[in-house]
Amino acid sequence: MEDIKTLDQTYVAHSYGRYPVTLVRGRGAEAWDDAGKHYIDLGSGIAVNTFGFADADWIQAVTAQLQELQHTSNLYYTGPCAKLARQLCKRTGLKRVFFGNSGAEANEGLIKAARRWAFLKYGDESHSTIVTLVNSFHGRTITTLSATGQEAFHREFGPFTPGFVHAPVGDAARLRELTEERGCCAVLIELVQGEGGVMALPRDYVEAIAALCKEKELLLLVDEVQTGNGRTGSLYAFQQYGISPDGVSTAKGLAGGLPLGAVMLGERLQDIFVPGSHGSTFGGNPVACAGALCNLARLDEACLAGVRERSGWLRAELTGAPGVKAVTGLGLMVGLETEKAAGDVVLACLNRGVLVLTAHDRVRLLPPLNIPMPLLQEAVKILKEVLAP
Ligand SMILES: *Cc1c(COP(=O)(O)O)cnc(C)c1O
Repeated sequence: MEDIKTLDQTYVAHSYGRYPVTLVRGRGAEAWDDAGKHYIDLGSGIAVNTFGFADADWIQAVTAQLQELQHTSNLYYTGPCAKLARQLCKRTGLKRVFFGNSGAEANEGLIKAARRWAFLKYGDESHSTIVTLVNSFHGRTITTLSATGQEAFHREFGPFTPGFVHAPVGDAARLRELTEERGCCAVLIELVQGEGGVMALPRDYVEAIAALCKEKELLLLVDEVQTGNGRTGSLYAFQQYGISPDGVSTAKGLAGGLPLGAVMLGERLQDIFVPGSHGSTFGGNPVACAGALCNLARLDEACLAGVRERSGWLRAELTGAPGVKAVTGLGLMVGLETEKAAGDVVLACLNRGVLVLTAHDRVRLLPPLNIPMPLLQEAVKILKEVLAP
């Protein structure tokens, strides 16, 4: 048998620190490696496999579309793209959708929308600045790295895109100052900072941001690349915060495992893109959109109640458990501040057949939204044994 690890290390760019496991098969919240070892998955491919591996309904929806058209280009209309946009608008109250292929591309679209809005409003680039938050994560392109509020990402790849300033989380007065220091058009936030350590923004802080945006005629933009598509217990996290964003980006779990990103545009931005102003060759791909339509149909109130129920059980089980200092996040986006180093916890879990993630110095859990309770219980039992000092 070919040694996949050696092949990968020889021919694939070394941009990832991989764990020493080659996964070959998955079903729901379970996976197997090339040695036949069994794992319970609490990572969902980083919040992508909404209903786990090889979900039967999703495979059916995707393969049915695959038999008809795999791609057409955006020169023609296709059903899945139009129907998915309708679903997203109906269920969020936003007005129009631009499709891309990833979180970073969705955020690029959101940033372009805000910049064009400001240009049309003021007639020049005087109000091009976008305020984002310290510890945020918005992607790996040069512009989304600039938007990301972590100094570690602002090195070695310069020059970076100008026009971003970063406000410390929780300080509404400082945010106001930053919007006043230079011409500003928008505030871009994650409601739960994912890569930054699974930190949910306080509700009163988010309300203060929304009020500030209203007062100063700034766009309120929400990056729901990770929090979206049922992950936090509502279809989108903004729906729990009682705010009405002008633009929302999403990707990760949207299509359940196929690359798809979306920029959802509210009333003020709905006409911001005109033919030629933005585009994406693969964006709105019918196969990815068919997967997303299947996902959205299943993300009904009963399913979301199931997410909240699992989240409640999981949080109660881990809060105050030996070796756990804090449980953070929202819904099935769970952060654990642990006594042991997060990286060691991940490796020990891997050894014992449980897939978990890190986010900064935290352990992060993002299980499939429909993980059966017995599997979740078994995985958490192992996790607690690993976490205990
Ligand atoms: C993962 C992530 C991104 C980047 O998504 P890619 O698909 O990797 O480009 C952007 N924003 C947030 C909040 C994310 O979690």
